[in-house]
Amino acid sequence: MVITDKERVRRLISLPEAKPHWAQLLRGGKVAIVGMGGLGNASSLYLAAQGVGHLTLIDPDEVAAHNLGRQILFGPADVGRPKVEACRRTLQFIAPDAVIETKTMTVTRDNYEMLLSGYDVIVDGLDNWDARVLLNLFSIHHHVPVVFAGAIGYEAQIYVVNGGKPCMQCLFGEEGYEDQDCALMGVLGPVAGMAGTVQAQEVLKILLNTGEVLQERIWTYDAYRNVSRVVRFTPRPQCSACGGNFEYGR
Ligand SMILES: [Zn+2]
Repeated sequence: MVITDKERVRRLISLPEAKPHWAQLLRGGKVAIVGMGGLGNASSLYLAAQGVGHLTLIDPDEVAAHNLGRQILFGPADVGRPKVEACRRTLQFIAPDAVIETKTMTVTRDNYEMLLSGYDVIVDGLDNWDARVLLNLFSIHHHVPVVFAGAIGYEAQIYVVNGGKPCMQCLFGEEGYEDQDCALMGVLGPVAGMAGTVQAQEVLKILLNTGEVLQERIWTYDAYRNVSRVVRFTPRPQCSACGGNFEYGR
């Protein structure tokens, strides 16, 4: 059955502030998702379902059995397959008209400019500081919004760097934080799904130019205690990333 864009977005354009051209804005939207773990699975699912026309999925890994508890685009038969290909199959089933590109690659200092160019928004589905630094730099230098998120244990956090100040390193400082490993810390599956879903929500708001985007603010959620907070953060005058003095040295 062929589903038109108009039908797909019927409930979206029922929102009070919706504009007639919203379906076209989504169909013309180009989004890169870097990392197809729990965050990337959830964000890409909602972006494809809502009608974003072009998604590029970037991840070097293969599906592992321990991914299945939270990476909801995969099934047992996908174990051992490239994550980006397994994701593409499910997303294409949900949104046959979407262009879904895949890149079985790691984002590095040498390739990030090439890999991240040409998108309206970039989604962080990563699990390490060093690669997030590159997304942050790309956002600052090219004025492209990056929707960051993290999920570990029972806790999630989401924030947007919108092509300027304050940036991720204003929030976390020069040295950042020690990477936390889901293998050691564990993660509750729906917490990663919630964070990815909020990322999709922020991407849609950016593409549609509506609502208040989570820039200059970080949203943290503790599922163990059901505590949610939104905290403002401001530019650090000495920030080596958005202050213009960044040197990749870590
Ligand atoms: Zn900064």
